Amino acid sequence: MYEIRFHGRGGQGAVMAAQALAEAAVLEGYFAQAFPYFGAERRGAPVRAFARIDKEKIRVKSQVYEPDILVVLDESLLEIDPVGEGLKPSGKAVINTTKMPEEIDLGVEVECGTVDATGIALESIKAPIVNTAILGALARVFDVISLESILNAIMNRFGEKLGHQSGVMNAEAARIAYLRTKIGRCSARRQLAKTKVWLPAWYEIPPGNALPQHAIEGVLIGPGSMVQNYTGTWRTQTPHYTKDKCIRCLRCWFSCPEGCIERMEDDYERWDYRYCKGCGICAQVCPVNAIEMIRGVHEWQ
Ligand code: SF4
Ligand code: SF4
Repeated sequence: MYEIRFHGRGGQGAVMAAQALAEAAVLEGYFAQAFPYFGAERRGAPVRAFARIDKEKIRVKSQVYEPDILVVLDESLLEIDPVGEGLKPSGKAVINTTKMPEEIDLGVEVECGTVDATGIALESIKAPIVNTAILGALARVFDVISLESILNAIMNRFGEKLGHQSGVMNAEAARIAYLRTKIGRCSARRQLAKTKVWLPAWYEIPPGNALPQHAIEGVLIGPGSMVQNYTGTWRTQTPHYTKDKCIRCLRCWFSCPEGCIERMEDDYERWDYRYCKGCGICAQVCPVNAIEMIRGVHEWQ
């Protein structure tokens, strides 16, 4: 049996990628399953999806903890998540990055294919939705499923859902990625941290009370609450605020899903970047373009 684990962010299409891979496997006569694990289930949040492929019927239903193939749709996840955790030493990895395989430190040294899936997606489908490009790279690294079956699965799945032309463009993204994937070996310099469990053990709860010291409006619920959940680590682009353009309409403050825009006393704004996940909603609602989304992780005063 082959087990595949996809790591992406909400909106990048990791779930569709797992489903399309499973469909490609079925087209080749395999049994297959695909399912997601959403976690926070918000745009930009880390998302996992899983696929299994076997010649026999698949009865196991758990998540994939020791994958044969690891697929990373967003390179920034390497900094915040031990994505290489459990990857078999005989396994393989596919990473969306502009770097060479040897420059990637996954914590496990395995065969690795790297591809600039974001660049290819912007070129081919005019949107940073990288799932189909990464599938093309996967076909290069994981030679059990052919590129042809992947392209047929993309045409079926994306064509049916988004129209024939969209299917063609997505298949083209996969084809280009297949050709541009660089194969090598990634390194294992970093120590893979154990993923922290979400709920605290009883001995981690502060004596006498589960609430943190500074409860605000009754919404903090103790260790593991939103205060400890730094959604700013999800960010791949950062809002840049130009105070001189701001007309203080407060639309951004009202619309931010993370509540990380703070109103100063004069109704100008300030960003708490520990919690800004870079979704770009504030920039979209600003009527005077006082907020610009800049690619990358930054902090401005
Ligand atoms: S500040 Fe803007 S980009 Fe950051 S989380 Fe809020 S709405 Fe999204
Ligand atoms: S939406 Fe734009 S103009 Fe309105 S308060 Fe925010 S930054 Fe200022």
